[in-house]
Amino acid sequence: MFGPVGIEAVLDQLKIKAMKTGFEFNIMVVGQSGLGKSTMVNTLFKSKVWKSAMPSLEVPTPQTLELHSVSHVIEEKGLKLKLTVTDTPGFGDQINNDKCLRPLDIEFLRRLCRTVNVVPVIARADSLTIEEREAFRSRIQQNLKTHCIEVYPQKCFDEDINDSILNGKIREQIPFAVVGADQEHLVNGRCVLGRKTKWGIIEVENIAHCEFLLLRDLLIRSHLQDLKDITHNVHYENYRVIRLNESHQ
Ligand code: GDP
Ligand code: MG
Repeated sequence: MFGPVGIEAVLDQLKIKAMKTGFEFNIMVVGQSGLGKSTMVNTLFKSKVWKSAMPSLEVPTPQTLELHSVSHVIEEKGLKLKLTVTDTPGFGDQINNDKCLRPLDIEFLRRLCRTVNVVPVIARADSLTIEEREAFRSRIQQNLKTHCIEVYPQKCFDEDINDSILNGKIREQIPFAVVGADQEHLVNGRCVLGRKTKWGIIEVENIAHCEFLLLRDLLIRSHLQDLKDITHNVHYENYRVIRLNESHQ
């Protein structure tokens, strides 16, 4: 007679391994230049999660001319997470695309979705009224559907009813309307990351102002492992098969 498989022991081993090796997660920010990509990279690192680990982080924002990666490690309950964000120059900047940006975006997304998990965002959301935000969001959702572009979290990878419910909600909210800022301001005695305007401060980490928190939670909290699993099991596997086939021709 065999005893139980000892699932507890397996969990312990996984935990010990995770403690030793930590987690790594890579994000790349892409889009037209001037959209706020570099600012968003700074926003991500200056926002509250990283604060305790890096009190005096200063990342300069020159105009991005080439790929540029920034990594930081946070530690929580003995577990390390190394987040690397790669900033890119604007795609399509080199050609005159005044009149064809929409088709370029669509073609770019179509190809990108086959290679990586894509989380689209509406940048500079402070420049849109509430109605404009919603109209823009539904137009993008409609466009993605029409062109069969499957952004993350992809329906086909929902594993059970709970996934479908949770991810279904996220799919309704995507693309998140975000605001980026690398300056801090004092608001009612609190130090907040935000954009100061003549009529007030747009707070990045305030859900009433923009959806940056939803984006950050999805990326580095609720869906971090799932993003990595899909990258590894689906995207990388597809890439590997293509390369293997190429080398056999
Ligand atoms: P990139 O070319 O996509 O890397 O864009 P940058 O991050 O360099 O930002 C371009 C300009 O847009 C800068 O002047 C930023 O201060 C500004 N910017 C960045 N994010 C936002 C935002 O959320 N709202 C507004 N209004 N301006 C932004
Ligand atoms: Mg840039």
